[in-house]
Amino acid sequence: MSLQDISDRISKAEQNAGRKPGEVTLVAVSKVQPDERVKAVLNEGHRCFGENRVQEAESKWPSFKQHFDGVELHLIGPLQSNKARAAMALFDVIHTLDRPKLATTLARIAQEQGYCPEMFVQVNTGEEEQKAGVLPADADKFIQECLGLDLPVKGLMCIPPAHEEAALHFALLAKIAARNGLVGLSMGMSSDFEKAIALGATHIRVGSAIFGDRVPA
Ligand SMILES: *Cc1c(COP(=O)(O)O)cnc(C)c1O
Repeated sequence: MSLQDISDRISKAEQNAGRKPGEVTLVAVSKVQPDERVKAVLNEGHRCFGENRVQEAESKWPSFKQHFDGVELHLIGPLQSNKARAAMALFDVIHTLDRPKLATTLARIAQEQGYCPEMFVQVNTGEEEQKAGVLPADADKFIQECLGLDLPVKGLMCIPPAHEEAALHFALLAKIAARNGLVGLSMGMSSDFEKAIALGATHIRVGSAIFGDRVPA
């Protein structure tokens, strides 16, 4: 599918849900994609991209940023504390704030630098052992902790379990956000972003539907 097709589907989903046109941010997930495909999407005018690994992003985005103005980069994969400084230097938004140690590290660096990317707290809505994210039962406390550290938490992020109805997870995430006064919802991928928009997503993370299947390097 092309970027234009996805944009049309987003507009339609916004309209169907009674949302304002352009309210939903499309994060084009460029992880593992060949440079040519990423460049093609940049040439079409898109500027908001997501990567799931700091190192991979460091190897490709500084040069893209030299050639294209206004790029906004989102980190959507797990962040190790020892990569926090590098991530803060490269990314405009971090979607994977998920534990106290990372929060204190990010807060310390933010104090030092007087700058901090926007943050989403990742919630493990499916309570899956192999998945990152704070558990739903611990979410309120962790969100308040992060806000107490002056981290600019804008919303919540989730990755629903592969074989469950995503809508249930999107609804749970929206509920946790609402009771914590957060407006941002990073949810929805290639296979379910319309559903996520219907349930209030402000940021959808779409990879393969834009770029095609990811070919292993
Ligand atoms: C890869 C990835 C996506 C995009 O997945 P697609 O199915 O290709 O749209 C979204 N979110 C996260 C966290 C990812 O790692």
